[in-house]
Amino acid sequence: MQIASQYKWLWMMSKKILVWFRNDLRLHDNEMLVEAIAKSDEILPVYFFDPRHFQQTSYHTLKTGALRAQFLIESVAALRQSFQNLGGNIIILLGKPEDHLPVLVSKYEITEVYHHREVASEETDVSAHVEDALWKQRVNLKHFIGHTLYNKEDLPFPIKDIPDVFAQFKKKTERDAGVKPCFLTPQKINFVPTDEWGALPALTELLPHVDLGTLPTSAYKGGEQEALNHLYEFLHTGEDMALANASLKKNEIVSKLSPWLSLGCLSPREVYWKMKEAELSYGLKPYFNQIVVGLLWRDYYRFMFKKYGNVFFRPAGFGHAEMPVGQVDELQLSAWKNANTGHPLVDAMLYELNTTGYISHAARLLVALYLIYELKINWVFGAAYFEEKLLDYTPASNWGNWANVAGVGNDARLTNSFDFEKQLKVVDPKGLYLQDVRA
Ligand SMILES: Cc1cc2nc3c(=O)[nH]c(=O)nc-3n(C[C@H](O)[C@H](O)[C@H](O)COP(=O)(O)OP(=O)(O)OC[C@H]3O[C@@H](n4cnc5c(N)ncnc54)[C@H](O)[C@@H]3O)c2cc1C
Repeated sequence: MQIASQYKWLWMMSKKILVWFRNDLRLHDNEMLVEAIAKSDEILPVYFFDPRHFQQTSYHTLKTGALRAQFLIESVAALRQSFQNLGGNIIILLGKPEDHLPVLVSKYEITEVYHHREVASEETDVSAHVEDALWKQRVNLKHFIGHTLYNKEDLPFPIKDIPDVFAQFKKKTERDAGVKPCFLTPQKINFVPTDEWGALPALTELLPHVDLGTLPTSAYKGGEQEALNHLYEFLHTGEDMALANASLKKNEIVSKLSPWLSLGCLSPREVYWKMKEAELSYGLKPYFNQIVVGLLWRDYYRFMFKKYGNVFFRPAGFGHAEMPVGQVDELQLSAWKNANTGHPLVDAMLYELNTTGYISHAARLLVALYLIYELKINWVFGAAYFEEKLLDYTPASNWGNWANVAGVGNDARLTNSFDFEKQLKVVDPKGLYLQDVRA
């Protein structure tokens, strides 16, 4: 009896860190996880399916459509499996983090909570609510920033001075900052013991009002191992596959890594360093460079969100604050969404978006230009629709790109640089896209 209470005392004294997973669903290159393991006796991994992420928006779209919700469920299931392989698990809850975290902290006598900081306001508000609640329990919420290729601290400028012009951001960052090595994947973890790990929600629980009967089978499967496999395949056989199957030229090959990057199943540094390894075998391929530029765009939009915040969500963007959304022709908007505009290429691309959750950058540009400049519908309706449909949706990349295409972004050099007719010529010069997508 005496020994048991001694152990209980030791258990209470041990340092237990709750690791709150969000868009960082991986074990590789995860500083937050590595530090939690190093600085604690035991960790308690937790993931929340937050009902707010599955609600309707004010644009009558869903914040998360069925394909991305499914991809998310698969990704969390894969993370659970990775922890189970190490003899542990992850608590999975359907609910708001600010409601549940204080309860978990008390119940398991957690000493500190770790999480990754996001940049868009809805996500940072949740962090602030959690921080307030934990503060009352005298528990610290530690923030990590692990989503970018370049760490914020390594940039040659503070956030407020980051150049608005992408070309300048790229030039100075590549010249003056380095990409850090990846953190090692943990091989051994001590978990806080519990048998209340919680069940993965079904798609119908997340989207109870959506008709899921006609949900297409996605070509993309969520999860860290799927991401690493896809990266390997792309780096080692991507060129052959792409050239054999599609209407692409060598410099138009796309990696399709974005869905995994968005949920953090894949780290951008992992992509970078694995690409450097591949370069040793195959030399510098033009599309390797294209990926690095893509990752820099991704960092840029994320840092711009940190710099300017909600401006990117305003219909006027960085333009005149009073600019109205304008009258929306609901019939035309609905035809655009349903791939029924009558323009064969635009419709083929929207059809691909609706059925797979992915279209290439060139295709995104084309359908966005069509909505904004041909149908004269305000860009925010398109951005909200992409938010629902894209597997790779992230607030900064989506709303940042849309604002720039609409000419209301913060990079003055991009204003008026887009043209529908020009884009039409670059996007499918051989007319093969239509054949591919409808096949
Ligand atoms: C209107 C519009 C909306 C967009 N919405 C999103 C979005 O919600 N989420 C998203 O990840 N990307 C978005 N993009 C950017 C880009 O189109 C996609 O990242 C890219 O098509 C993903 O395909 P990939 O993985 O094959 O890219 P690759 O060309 O192989 O590039 C490698 C990676 O770099 C990043 N990247 C490349 N280009 C961009 C870019 N212009 N901006 C930001 N990141 C980039 C992606 O993470 C991508 O996976 C949008 C672009 C437009 C024009």
